[in-house]
Amino acid sequence: KNITIAIDGFSSTGKSTVAKQLAKHLGYVYVDTGAMYRAVTYYAMQNGLISDLDFNKEALIYQLPNIKISFKFNKTLGFAEVYLNAVNIEKEIRTLEVSSYVSKVAAISEIRQKLVEQQQQMGQDKGVVMDGRDIGTVVFPDAELKLFMTASAETRAERRYQELIERGDDVEYKDVLDNVKERDYIDSNRKDSPLKKAEDAIEIDNSNMSLDEQFNTILQLAKM
Ligand code: C5P
Repeated sequence: KNITIAIDGFSSTGKSTVAKQLAKHLGYVYVDTGAMYRAVTYYAMQNGLISDLDFNKEALIYQLPNIKISFKFNKTLGFAEVYLNAVNIEKEIRTLEVSSYVSKVAAISEIRQKLVEQQQQMGQDKGVVMDGRDIGTVVFPDAELKLFMTASAETRAERRYQELIERGDDVEYKDVLDNVKERDYIDSNRKDSPLKKAEDAIEIDNSNMSLDEQFNTILQLAKM
């Protein structure tokens, strides 16, 4: 029987890595909901609605109907890439600049409402692994398996820093660490669906777990 697997947790806990692996193994659809909030943020940046100096929330809310987010499976990569108004923006949304604004965008109720609705539709009637911050609490409160991933902020920042360096981005470890902590704070304290562990979620601290260990642990849980 196909089930819904909700994977929530703090920034850069490796949710997407294990979620992708799991979806591939089970033949399920994988949905990266963070990519959707990043896509809206990227739209806001491209359209001059957000910068260090200014954040025009009202204009962004007004323009929401113009923002169409979709996913298309890339066979070579083995996962679905995110598109904004039919343009592939999978790489553009992973920068530290997008990361530095995304939690503010994600705190806007109108934006969450729109994205949650789309996420619920994508997960209907099929096996799905969805990763985010509010999947087990808001998007799929009835998910058969809920996981909550944690790891120390330093471990997470180190992983994210390595990823950014590997893609050739010019970043400092300290800025990445600051960003991870700032997003944890904003995500956990926003008014609308704050990041928190669902009561029935299983917490996995992967600070000292290899990718294989994590994958096997979660696969066992999915088979129960
Ligand atoms: O998962 P990722 O780090 O790419 O998510 C980027 C940001 O999007 C998070 O820091 C959070 O502010 C927001 N987000 C959210 N709800 C989700 C997924 C992501 O608020 N379900």
